[in-house]
Amino acid sequence: MSARRILLLGPPGAGKGTQAQRLVDRLSIPQISTGDMFRAAVAAGTELGKRLKAIMDSGELVSDEIVIDICRERLTQDDAREGFILDGFPRTVGQAEALDGLLDSLGVKLECCVALVVDDEAIVQRLLKRAEIEGRSDDNEETILNRMRVYREQTKPLVAYYRERGVLVEVDGMGGIDAVAQGIQEALA
Ligand code: AMP
Repeated sequence: MSARRILLLGPPGAGKGTQAQRLVDRLSIPQISTGDMFRAAVAAGTELGKRLKAIMDSGELVSDEIVIDICRERLTQDDAREGFILDGFPRTVGQAEALDGLLDSLGVKLECCVALVVDDEAIVQRLLKRAEIEGRSDDNEETILNRMRVYREQTKPLVAYYRERGVLVEVDGMGGIDAVAQGIQEALA
């Protein structure tokens, strides 16, 4: 039996989105990507979207308050009742604590945090390539380096956070997409 309440953790460019999509297909549970939700708000041209775009283009993090509100709403929707794949949330210890509280109130627990282990230099190369293909406005070199710094300072401490809670599994993220997917499948079993 596979875990079904899953968090994918890893630096920008580690392949979380690609692997989350594989899990959506295999487990029929939704991917919850805060980055995708914010990009949708930007595309919709709302006031919030305009503020989000400026933050995302700088590579800094959106405030915990906004992130937690949007995730609370998403996680309480019907399709997330039987499981979910969190991709890009939580990204700070404050968000992780809020997630614990939220899941508690729903009477469920995070079953597995899969940390994708990759090397920084390879990631920067991946992100530069993605910039060419997707044209994301936050995939330029300056923003990429800032996102890596933000990851190290604010998000990486979550590896220890989830290890202490006994739900962390580290998976080598440096192989091909299929090899990494296989590693994740074993981690969730
Ligand atoms: P991503 O697509 O996950 O790389 O997210 C793109 C950008 O959205 C990030 O660089 C942040 O500016 C913002 N973002 C996404 N998720 C979060 C989060 N959980 N907390 C704060 N900011 C976030």
